[in-house]
Amino acid sequence: MAESVKVLCRCRPLNDREKALTSKVCVEMMGAEGKVMLFPADNDPPKEFTFDGAYFMDSTAEQIYNESVFPLVESVIEGYNGTVFAYGQTGAGKTFSMQGLEDVPTQKGIIPRAFEHIFETTATTSDMKFLVHASYLEIYNEEVRDLLGDSRNTKLEIKEGGDRGVYVAGLSMHVCHNVSGCADLMKKGFNNRHVGATLMNKDSSRSHSIFTVYVEAMNAEGSIRMGKLNLVDLAGSERQSKTGATGDRFKEATKINLSLSALGNVISALVDGKSKHIPYRDSKLTRLLQDSLGGNTKTIMVACISPSDNNFDETLSTLRYANRAK
Ligand code: ADP
Ligand code: MG
Repeated sequence: MAESVKVLCRCRPLNDREKALTSKVCVEMMGAEGKVMLFPADNDPPKEFTFDGAYFMDSTAEQIYNESVFPLVESVIEGYNGTVFAYGQTGAGKTFSMQGLEDVPTQKGIIPRAFEHIFETTATTSDMKFLVHASYLEIYNEEVRDLLGDSRNTKLEIKEGGDRGVYVAGLSMHVCHNVSGCADLMKKGFNNRHVGATLMNKDSSRSHSIFTVYVEAMNAEGSIRMGKLNLVDLAGSERQSKTGATGDRFKEATKINLSLSALGNVISALVDGKSKHIPYRDSKLTRLLQDSLGGNTKTIMVACISPSDNNFDETLSTLRYANRAK
């Protein structure tokens, strides 16, 4: 089981604000060994963690994709389910890793790379017919909303039934014929995401978003298989005290933390392999992803961190969370 869950850690460069504050870099990595070291301000020894991959400041989405995500998407094309999560505090690089920069080829994110991978493979596999669909939803305050359909303001229900398994009733499905069709959906949905201002980052996203690509394949005999790829940009993992949240913001923070802790519990139960009960039902996020976590599926968690010493506490909590998922 542990084989099917991989945890990567990515550290972004210092940003301008941190440079202006003359923040110090408190993170070191030994990429080849997947080792991450976090140095406390005093002369205490560093906290050390080992993951399946460690990507420092100058790493690219291209490297991360080719080394780690490629096999997961390959197995989705073969008919299995897979999920990539980006986890971390607001501003740590989750969206940068998932969507990336359009105009810097090496920094094009995991999501558009997955589109290219899928359409290149389907175009060159001549003995199969492929049909690709996509959906894009967000979970905000434990409520599910469609980021692409006409009913963006309607709360959608999670249902369970027959051979459909767990699904979101009324979620819009969009046929994709090529990479640019998928990319347009990604941009359209992203612009519809809930954003709320916190002290840490005025564009901070308070919602979890799930972009799902459904790859259906039919062979010459007419038998059909389907793989599902979930690309999940999680809400900021920071604790509400640091971001000065009150009122509605505080209520959000509590629910965000609920989904993130439920996810942590599910993944660590799967990795542990001994638990008979996997607590999928504890949050909307884990319930929705139930058929894509565990079993024959592959999961990658990209734990995004800041290198800056003023983020030491949040970075430590991200590394601890990620460490539970190994
Ligand atoms: P999050 O989605 O986790 O809140 P973002 O992905 O929006 O954070 O990143 C915050 C800022 O840092 C953005 O301006 C982004 O361009 C920049 N950034 C994040 N990761 C990197 C990286 N690895 N290299 C360069 N810039 C980055
Ligand atoms: Mg973001």
